Amino acid sequence: MEASPDAVLAVLKVGLVDPRTPVIRADDPGLTRGDGCFEGCRVIDGRVDKLDAHLDRMTRSAAALELPFDRDEWRALVELAVAAWPHPGEAAMKLLLTRGPAGFAWITPLPSEYARLRRDGLRVITLDRGTTADAFADAPWLLGGAKTLSYAVNMAAAREAARRGADDVLFVSADGVVLEAPTGTVVWSVGRILRTPATGPSGILGSTTQRRLYERAAAAGWTVEEVAARVDDLHEADVTWIVSSVRGPIDVIELDGKQRPRRPDVDAEIRRLAGF
Ligand code: PLP
Repeated sequence: MEASPDAVLAVLKVGLVDPRTPVIRADDPGLTRGDGCFEGCRVIDGRVDKLDAHLDRMTRSAAALELPFDRDEWRALVELAVAAWPHPGEAAMKLLLTRGPAGFAWITPLPSEYARLRRDGLRVITLDRGTTADAFADAPWLLGGAKTLSYAVNMAAAREAARRGADDVLFVSADGVVLEAPTGTVVWSVGRILRTPATGPSGILGSTTQRRLYERAAAAGWTVEEVAARVDDLHEADVTWIVSSVRGPIDVIELDGKQRPRRPDVDAEIRRLAGF
């Protein structure tokens, strides 16, 4: 292993390996069919931020996929990987489990564009996800709320945003209800109220970042709500953020081409409450 690696790879049932080691077989359904689940976590100064929440969600995702998941084994794998990451400050960690089965923890530096996005805010476009807001009700085979490896649509949406000169996407249901971003959750403020779309029948992923933000914001005197909203509600909000574990909350500075005034006071409070 290099003295100061820019990636760390810890493989389930194997341990630390050179980060260039191939770990997926060609016949792994996780690779051939996106049949598996993952987590994206923030490493900060040698520890994993809200690790329990990530292990909880991966337990739920694996259960939805009917994949075995040994929480203690995964916690040990995470500890092994993080102990081998030599850099202070922030990094990104992926936990990935396939039907193969293959499982690994993979730590890398933060994507280079995060500093700019955090500083400058996000230009966001809305895109139709093509299903109604209750499409996932009573349909467990749609895997609503599970963080599966099938993210090709999410990545295509992100490329569509880039093509249109935007930084991120907000999916909207076919019946006009605000859902989520391809890799993040939307939260907005109106006065001292924070709002986010409800999970459940919409199939959107429950966010660990939003949950922590809500706990801390409620303790700090904010009213926190889960609602069904339309894009117009976001145009009328004081501040809208896309939140996720590694990127943190980033305020939306433009929505569908319409500029949004920035509110550095509110923004700073929300970022701080979310742990950023
Ligand atoms: N929604 C989707 C589709 C995501 O991929 C993510 C990121 O993991 C989130 C929401 C936000 O979740 P979290 O805050 O737990 O990272």
